[in-house]
Parts: sequence; C-alpha cells; structure tokens
Amino acid sequence: MRMHDHPAINYPPYVWPEGKRCAVVFSLDLDAESPFLWISRGQAVHHLGEIEQRRQGPRQGLARVAALLAEYGIRGSFYVPGVVAETYPGLLPFLVEGGHEIAHHGYFHERIEAIPVERAEEYLVQAQELFRAQTGLSGLGHRAPSWEMTPDFLRVLQRRGVAYDSSLMGFDHPYEVGGVVEVPVQWMVDDALYFRYTNSARDKTHPANPVAVLESWIEEFEGVRETGGLFMVTVHDWISGRGQRLRLLRRLIEHLRRDPQVWWARADEVAAWHAASANAGRFSVPAHAINTHFETAPRG
Ligand SMILES: [Zn+2]
Repeated sequence: MRMHDHPAINYPPYVWPEGKRCAVVFSLDLDAESPFLWISRGQAVHHLGEIEQRRQGPRQGLARVAALLAEYGIRGSFYVPGVVAETYPGLLPFLVEGGHEIAHHGYFHERIEAIPVERAEEYLVQAQELFRAQTGLSGLGHRAPSWEMTPDFLRVLQRRGVAYDSSLMGFDHPYEVGGVVEVPVQWMVDDALYFRYTNSARDKTHPANPVAVLESWIEEFEGVRETGGLFMVTVHDWISGRGQRLRLLRRLIEHLRRDPQVWWARADEVAAWHAASANAGRFSVPAHAINTHFETAPRG
C-alpha cells in the first residue's frame, strides 16, 4: 500500500484544470524599502545604504521583471505593502495595465504575529482603502509580510472580504485553513533566501551562485510536477531586478515553458479554481496553533 492510499491519511490527488499536471504562479513581493522602515520604526535613521539598495526595486527592478514577463506573455501576482503603493503611486496602475494581479502585503510590512490583531486589521483596512482609491479594485488577495500568520488574523481576512491568503505551506497545492483559501508559498523558491544581502546584521548568508540556484529551482519544479502540486515562485523587486538574477529568471521561465502540462495562472485565478472545483473542501484544515502547555508529570 502506498502511503497516500492509507485510509488514515487519505488525501486524494489535486485536480488541475484542463487536465494539467501541475501549476506555476510567478509572484513578486514588492517590498522596496518597507521592511527596513518597519524594523527601523521609532528610530532616527540617517544612513542610506540599505534604503537606497531597496529603492532600486521601484526605480528599476520592477520594470525589468515586468518587461521579462511581458516578453513571455506571463501575468504575475504582485503583493504590495500599502506604504509602497502610497510612496510610488504609479505602481499599482502600471501593474494592473500589464494584466497582473495586485494583492495586499501589510501596510508597513508589519509582522502580523508581533502586533495586536486590532492593529493588524486597521492596517489591512487602510491598505484596502488605498488600493481602491488608486485602482478601483477591492476584494483582493493577501500575503502576510515575512509569511507569518495567526488564527485571529485569518478570521480578519474573512471578515474583511479578502479573496484568499498566500502565506502558508500546509499543503503544496491550494487548501483551506480556518475557512480561508490558501495558495501556498514555498521558501525553497524564494529569491531572498539565496540572494538577500545588505551587509547588515540581518543577513543570513552571502549571495548564492545563480547557476546553482537555477539547478535547485528546476529540481524543485520537477519534484512538484511529479506529485501534481503548485510551483509558486517568489521574487522581490530589489533582489531579482538586476544582473545575474534577471538572467536566472529568464532561464527558469524558458525551462518551465517547455512543459505543456503546466497550468500558468495568477494566484487569484488559482484560488478561484480551488473554490469552484472538486478540490474545494477536500483539503480543509482548522487554524490552530499548538498547545504548548504539555503535561510535565511522568505518565502512568
Ligand atoms: Zn515582503
């Protein structure tokens, strides 16, 4: 008996449209300088290094990634903090005109688990109002900054009419968590893990060799394809919109496009497919954090 046939863990295969074998979503978290502002809040910042590095994103990086996608006719999903849309008011209309999805990513790139849920809700509502004012669009999707989430905030997303969430990875294809459709992310295919470098204490590593990263991402795609999952690529405006990373993205896209069994879609289209297809409800899990109050006395 194969593991997935066992009745105790019997999740059926995910069903993709048009008989496709797997799906690819190209997503970009348009952070620009917002995470730096959030981390530095309340402090007097007088140095330019990291903030200028990040501003290259909206100045150059985003347009270059968008041009690459246009070349291949790919429509992506762009997660934009409110403060970035406010600082660069041309960004959202530019993306919408290009056929891309725009969705929420906090207001100040705040970490949801680190602030009161009421505050997080206020920021979401502010972002919704700003996006509506700039583009006329509402009922958009959401991706949590730093991909962290709480059960309380999932309830806020439902209450505030958010179409879906894309922050968690409890399955490697869409599912429902706490009643919210989740279009999962994947750290393995996030450019920040390999290339984020600002010469600060928050750097985790030196930039990786993009040729090795390309090989790793292709291997991940082939694995996801074998099990019929979602290959969610996530890049950042200020990390992937330059030099070697643009070349890496082109080579990745060339590889993915050779496969006729891939369904290319925006994340909102994947979420809509999930909710309207036979998959709905098959992969539904409650949203609960673990109980850490373990019994410490010896048993028996
Ligand atoms: Zn982000």
